[in-house]
Amino acid sequence: MAEGTWISEVAGGYGTTLETTAHLFSKKSRYQQIDIYETRKLGKLLMLDGIIQLTGFDEFAYHEMMAHLPVLTHPAPRNVLVIGGGDGGVLRELGRHRCLEELHICEIDADVIDACRRFLPETACGYDDPRVRIHVGDGSAFVKEHPGSFDVIIVDSTDPGGPGEPLFGEAFYRDLKTALRPGGVIASQSESPYLLPDIVLRLNMLTHKIFAYSDYAVIQVPTYPTGQIGMCVASDARDVRPQAGAVPAALQTALRYYSPEARAGAFLHPLFVDRLLEKARRS
Ligand code: SAM
Repeated sequence: MAEGTWISEVAGGYGTTLETTAHLFSKKSRYQQIDIYETRKLGKLLMLDGIIQLTGFDEFAYHEMMAHLPVLTHPAPRNVLVIGGGDGGVLRELGRHRCLEELHICEIDADVIDACRRFLPETACGYDDPRVRIHVGDGSAFVKEHPGSFDVIIVDSTDPGGPGEPLFGEAFYRDLKTALRPGGVIASQSESPYLLPDIVLRLNMLTHKIFAYSDYAVIQVPTYPTGQIGMCVASDARDVRPQAGAVPAALQTALRYYSPEARAGAFLHPLFVDRLLEKARRS
């Protein structure tokens, strides 16, 4: 078989290289360079500004955890806001919860939505749910304009540096808290503790300072740098369920990653991460 083209994500002194067999889409949008490839082994690949956002091989891990963990933490969620998440994967997982009446998404880049709907239907099928309401704009402005509005907010953003920069600051996290309804829960993409410990520490310091309950979970995603990515989970509710139990029967058959055990394990960390989180709590 002829060799394909090797594509690398190279950032911060660390690289990941995948073999691609076709370049399906390429566009410089107003916000970022968007590329979608077919890979030899890992299904479709979405890159933004040269950074891997998802592959068909392991996107289920990230999307299941980002969606089901916060939704199953809330005792009775009715609506959810996704900030970022233009590929539709978190929406796809949220759509499996029949209790949710409205699935809002605020994505800054309409070109990401269009490209994913066209070339990544396995992921972007999340948009087909009639409960989805699409808002195109900056998520940090959107939460400021919607106080007391959402039961769950999921921040599925790119890394700091590009358009995602405002989604990593203290003002944004304060606005997230204000945008929640009573009992609301947030979950936010919070980077790898191996690669970006300073960002992990800063985000956990913020959530600890701003919310009554906060914790940090790690998801195994082989194609993200260091093979894992973290999420902050936080709430002001006193009855928050950090080790929430049963998965609804209708959801169970669709799952490949999330389970009560995988969820519990995601909050159990090696010593260096525990020490980082302890430092955040003491700050
Ligand atoms: N999970 C992925 C990762 O960490 O690699 C992120 C996937 S998702 C494609 C990230 C989305 O966040 C992108 O489509 C990007 O356009 C969007 N985004 C970045 N900054 C944003 C902002 N300020 N407001 C709303 N969406 C934003």
